[in-house]
Amino acid sequence: MVEKNPCDGCDLCCRHVAVEIDAPESDKEYDQIRWFLLHKDIWVFVDNDDSWNMQVNRPCEKLTSDGSCGYYEKRPQICRDYSASSCERNGDGESFKIMWRSLEEFEEWVLDGKVVPED
Ligand code: SF4
Ligand code: SF4
Repeated sequence: MVEKNPCDGCDLCCRHVAVEIDAPESDKEYDQIRWFLLHKDIWVFVDNDDSWNMQVNRPCEKLTSDGSCGYYEKRPQICRDYSASSCERNGDGESFKIMWRSLEEFEEWVLDGKVVPED
């Protein structure tokens, strides 16, 4: 029997780039995150390993209109290593602890005491 492709009908992970950033400690570093979030298509999140990340919501240039990879043989290692069983669609629960999609969300969180949820 042919196994079903776990990515069928999904291209979520090809639609953004996430880059790890330093967890903010100083006022200056919190202000830098405010600056990130002022930009269109930029989100910031803390992943389940407590790493802080900046997410750029722009699709890969090699993503085809039918949602497949148009660069499959030469795709970067990070694409090869990404697990379709623990990804944002197929994994258990969210792939992050907290995410800010706007400056306002982040400022509210700062005013509320800067608490990152526990595991
Ligand atoms: S790895 Fe997960 S998020 Fe990425 S395309 Fe496959 S099912 Fe979608
Ligand atoms: S190279 Fe292919 S697998 Fe990697 S992000 Fe682009 S479309 Fe997705």
